[in-house]
Amino acid sequence: MKRIDFLKQVALLLAGSAFLPKLKFLQDSNFTELRNGVGIFTMQGGTIGWFTTEDAIVAIDSQYPDPAGNFISGISNFGGGPEKVLFNTHHHGDHTGGNSVFEENSYQIIGHANVPDLMRMSAEGSDNQPTVPGTTFEEQYDMDMGNETIHAKHYGPAHTGGDSVIWFENANVAHMGDLMFNRLYPFIDRGGGALIANWITTLENVVSEANSDTQFIFGHGNPEFGVTGSGDDLLHMRDFLSHLMEYTRRGIAEGHSKEELMDIESFDEFPNFISPSDFLSLSRNVDVAYRELTEEE
Ligand SMILES: [Zn+2]
Repeated sequence: MKRIDFLKQVALLLAGSAFLPKLKFLQDSNFTELRNGVGIFTMQGGTIGWFTTEDAIVAIDSQYPDPAGNFISGISNFGGGPEKVLFNTHHHGDHTGGNSVFEENSYQIIGHANVPDLMRMSAEGSDNQPTVPGTTFEEQYDMDMGNETIHAKHYGPAHTGGDSVIWFENANVAHMGDLMFNRLYPFIDRGGGALIANWITTLENVVSEANSDTQFIFGHGNPEFGVTGSGDDLLHMRDFLSHLMEYTRRGIAEGHSKEELMDIESFDEFPNFISPSDFLSLSRNVDVAYRELTEEE
């Protein structure tokens, strides 16, 4: 297929699924090593994190079936032993859609205790039964792999009701899942248990547990800013969410309707945030902030 035809097909696919809560940026599959055996894989959906040792392969998030297949065949170039583990940072389809492929390849799947039910809820009405984590935890899950210590930690409801951050302690790398949309208007899944107020606190808590050398992996990013970064990027996201809440709180106090407040495209203070689709926009963020502040469903 000529590249231009391929791009046309992609455009059609994207147009057809414009209303779905998915982030399907099609890219070439791509492995990048960060440090100490920890790296990222990008192709389609939320950024996959990975770690290999002589004894094990650890993956974080599974994108969709096709990229999951590419990941599993490509990761062998980076070594990795017989033990195989997949963490899900949360339940969304662009992070768990490839779970079945990982399971077929003998990966043990681990996620926060709310992830299985949230996955089943999201799949209601569809023919596909989701492949949910077989191992779950409430607060923290620890694992030693060779000379690396990995821990997955839940900080309370934020992007969803079942988010976790996966820390590689020796490499000093942490995968944030969708707690980080780097300079992108985030998806805030109120129906799936999201809470903006605690998302703000979560980012602060994560930064307080990190140091200036910690490298973070983000679920999604503005292409200009990328899917890795530092604690400063987390604090920028924290500032955006705080500003969103303050804008909405002030608007409500001044007697504006939700519709009036939603009539906004950007904040002057956050010029680098982009809206890659109607689904991810400041207007939608204001809608959710308004409902959180007024406790409207
Ligand atoms: Zn998500």
